[in-house]
Amino acid sequence: MSALPSEATIPRRPLGVMAALQQELGDLLIAMRAEGAVETITHGKRDYHIGTVHGAPCVVTLARVGKVAAAATVSALIHAFDVEAVVFTGVAGGVGPAVRIGDVVVAETLMQHDMDASPLFPRFEVPLLGVSRFAADAPLTVALAAACERFIDEEGDALSQRFVTEARPVVHRGLILSGDQFVASATAVDLLRAAFPDALAVEMEGAAIAQVCYEYNVPCAIVRTVSDTADAHAPASFVTFLTEIAGTYSSGILKRFLSARG
Ligand code: SAH
Repeated sequence: MSALPSEATIPRRPLGVMAALQQELGDLLIAMRAEGAVETITHGKRDYHIGTVHGAPCVVTLARVGKVAAAATVSALIHAFDVEAVVFTGVAGGVGPAVRIGDVVVAETLMQHDMDASPLFPRFEVPLLGVSRFAADAPLTVALAAACERFIDEEGDALSQRFVTEARPVVHRGLILSGDQFVASATAVDLLRAAFPDALAVEMEGAAIAQVCYEYNVPCAIVRTVSDTADAHAPASFVTFLTEIAGTYSSGILKRFLSARG
């Protein structure tokens, strides 16, 4: 006879759910409160909300902006909250020529486009770690992309009408770039495209989260809705998208992802 507890009696470790900005979480905290008790713990100037959302035990938090903020937050999720895996949701600037505002990008790999310790180490490689491209967790990424596809299948036409996008949104998968800059010029986008021909989007947190998760062997997945195309229109496009649209995407994607998981 086995003395091991059955699977049903082992308490499930929570999933860490992160965004940089409050609008990027959509209705997640409202949904968590509607589902039961929420415990909020303040740690390192951030609030961590512990509860159940769409049937899945979660710790939900905001990282704020940039790689250091993201790395500190995901490290706390791992060490202080013992999360099993991490999912990040937010907006990004489109870089790939086929990536439009309103599209969704799910990261398969992530790089820090501003990392440069050359000539001591190859450009873009994280010194002493020997890695330049971090992989998102494959099964988690497949599940997240499936939730994005279901969201666009079910709500894509309504979204295009409501927000007057050029076409039905598309879900892309591939390389996301991160750096401590809001990219907002055609010249800067051209430089990124030249250095990373397969890059789909640019943002400020993803590759930092992927690095920390790689170092601690914690699965992570990252989804970004394209708020702007990182050119001169980016500041205005970003603000409008963030305040009016980003929450609808995050709510719809996370609802489907968490329900399938829970
Ligand atoms: N103080 C601003 C900060 C936003 S910075 C505010 O709160 O309004 C932009 C955020 O959106 C970052 O978290 C980044 O990950 C993402 N982002 C969207 N478009 C981007 C772009 N063109 N370049 C870099 N990051 C972008």
